[in-house]
Amino acid sequence: MNIKEKLEKYLGKSITESGNKEIYFSLVKLCNELSAERKTPETKKKLYYISAEFLIGKLLSNNLINLGIYDRVKELLCENKKSLSEIEECEIEPSLGNGGLGRLAACFMDSIATLGLNGDGIGLLYHLGLFRQSFKNNMQTETPDYWMEEEGWLIDTGKEYEVDFGGKKAISKMYDILVPGYEKNLSKLHLFDIKSIDENIITQGISFDKTNIEKNLTLFLYPDDSDEDGRMLRIYQEYFMVSSAAQLIVEEAQLRGCNLYDLNEYAAVQINDTHPAMIIPELIRILCEKGIDFEKACETVQKTCAYTNHTVMAEALEKWNGIALQRTLPKMMEIIEKLDEKVRKKYSNEDLYILDDHKRVHMANMAIHYGYSINGVAKLHTNILKTSALNSFYRAYPHKFNNKTNGITFRRWLLKANPCLTGFIAELLGDDFKRDASLLKGLEAYKDDTSVLEKFADIKLGNKRMLKEYLAKEHNISVDENSIFDIQIKRLHEYKRQQLNAIYLIDKFLEIKEGKLPASSITAIFGAKAAPSYVAAKDIIHLILTLSKVVENDEEAKKFLKIVFIPNYNVTNAEKLIPACDISEQISLASKEASGTGNMKMMLNGAVTLGTLDGANVEIESLVGKDNIYIFGASSGEIATKIDSYNPKSVWENNPRLSRALDFITCPEMINAGNKERLERLKINLSESDYFMALYDFEDYKKTKNKMIEDYKDKTAWARKMLMNTANSGYFSSDRTIEEYNNDIWKLGKI
Ligand SMILES: *Cc1c(COP(=O)(O)O)cnc(C)c1O
Repeated sequence: MNIKEKLEKYLGKSITESGNKEIYFSLVKLCNELSAERKTPETKKKLYYISAEFLIGKLLSNNLINLGIYDRVKELLCENKKSLSEIEECEIEPSLGNGGLGRLAACFMDSIATLGLNGDGIGLLYHLGLFRQSFKNNMQTETPDYWMEEEGWLIDTGKEYEVDFGGKKAISKMYDILVPGYEKNLSKLHLFDIKSIDENIITQGISFDKTNIEKNLTLFLYPDDSDEDGRMLRIYQEYFMVSSAAQLIVEEAQLRGCNLYDLNEYAAVQINDTHPAMIIPELIRILCEKGIDFEKACETVQKTCAYTNHTVMAEALEKWNGIALQRTLPKMMEIIEKLDEKVRKKYSNEDLYILDDHKRVHMANMAIHYGYSINGVAKLHTNILKTSALNSFYRAYPHKFNNKTNGITFRRWLLKANPCLTGFIAELLGDDFKRDASLLKGLEAYKDDTSVLEKFADIKLGNKRMLKEYLAKEHNISVDENSIFDIQIKRLHEYKRQQLNAIYLIDKFLEIKEGKLPASSITAIFGAKAAPSYVAAKDIIHLILTLSKVVENDEEAKKFLKIVFIPNYNVTNAEKLIPACDISEQISLASKEASGTGNMKMMLNGAVTLGTLDGANVEIESLVGKDNIYIFGASSGEIATKIDSYNPKSVWENNPRLSRALDFITCPEMINAGNKERLERLKINLSESDYFMALYDFEDYKKTKNKMIEDYKDKTAWARKMLMNTANSGYFSSDRTIEEYNNDIWKLGKI
């Protein structure tokens, strides 16, 4: 194929005469054309991965890599005095996800396609995404995240479905994003949009009339649900998604010869968290409508659907108001009530009921009863589900429970994000690790080879320089590439404990002012969005931003400590931050982080984890060994016994340094630079409630982090740790995860 001819045909002129944006759109066309030529392997059974989020990131480079034309395109552009990386800047990152769960779904799509599974993704087309974050007066502000473009990746399939909102009909339009696998194969991401959408109803920031469902339905991901209208909107969104999905699934199965009594032989539906759980009653409704009796429909759907649990935190498991559901989606509620009756006939344990005393619908409970599989997302998490969080269900259905430790796609998080390291590994091991990540283990043979270790350190330094340039150019922030890059990037949530990191930094600042200097100067980098109505999370953002100003204003301290908060954390900036990371902060309260995937991305890129024994950190530790990870803090077992009687006061009263750091939050310097109300509220929250026990783990965190910063001085020993982390990260390839899902849950069978 002559790429130049194709591009110039799309452009209608030569590459040299074209602008970057025009070239970008012509490359999108080229990728879509090449992808469309690929075939999805046909099997009798087809997988549908349904998720409220797909945090896919920019697609151009990833698709060029997977289509096998990255190098050729790059060269061609270079010959014509154009730069692929500048052209990539023209792409706007799609805003279809929020955090780890959405990123997981995106990695899974890449692996499903690469492994040649007959499977598609299903989600919603949010016109304005989650929100775009910026900082004003050290606080988060939210604006709509416009990302859709006329000639972007979305393909209008022309398919439409009718969705019935309790008598009112809406039209659902299906758009596709093509997902080419690495070297071969293709999957599709189907995104449904309401036809009557109207972006003009946005009034200010991200506010709009929440009751105008026809116009607002697919505007935002996770619209504010702190009031009843917001909660209703979310129910409508979920139903719109699953109703469109169920119609598509049934239609495709019938086209392949399914008689619907045997739907489970034609379709496997993976429910990613509880948001799509209503696909269960919706599929039952459709089967009944097509003449199948209720009992048989339940049985068939139960053999078709499987549920992935992503959290043990009760407040994050969806419970919808059954009375409101009755009013808006009476057909759904009627079926859910019947499903609950069946449960009540069989079990007396109230924990297992779908409807509780307040007539709230427990979506996870419905998904476990009426699905054939429930999986957790890391070994520890699945064990917690079995032994405590969902123990009643485990006793009722031990055979349904299984673990699928999360993974990440190495195409994006190594090949694309870290080309220097990829190139060096290819020199050492050949190219096969690009197809089979377990081969990275071969790096271990070089763990005492000083020239290899030096090269590892050089590559990291190079990546840190690139991040430095990016920060200077985009955010007017200057950092020292010779300092240790200590990075915590993830959603802002109290259980992830950015506040623990912040207290450490306060203590470090005060120590520096006393003349106690750190072993290496530190650049602490944060990136995190807070949910718009989550006050405590926004207070923590405010604390870190204010602290960063106070440190910056101190001529002495700023030589040793720099605090950076990158606005609008997303996949695009993750790809720049992760290859430059030295210390990977994974410091959640043990038992609360189901898995984490940021930890895996950083490990792959040679960062050393500073973490609690939580989520997949447990598995990272057993893979890399104790010398190559820094573990601190209470175990999940200890937390389980202590959390109910925990009193933070007893911790800070006995730790003068800790109480000094807490007092600093509301000292005159801070209040001058920040907002008194926010800082005071946060201090009270930490010193009186500390729901996620940050203070409890502070002393051990401090000791362990200081040791890490000390150890960093031995460049060779540190480079060995880097190498050992990369070498042992193969297990976290999402190809491995998806193979396990297919072998144990979907069983799509032979082509
Ligand atoms: C990987 C990733 C996450 C998840 O990070 P965790 O540390 O696992 O919470 C969130 N957001 C983005 C943009 C990511 O790339």
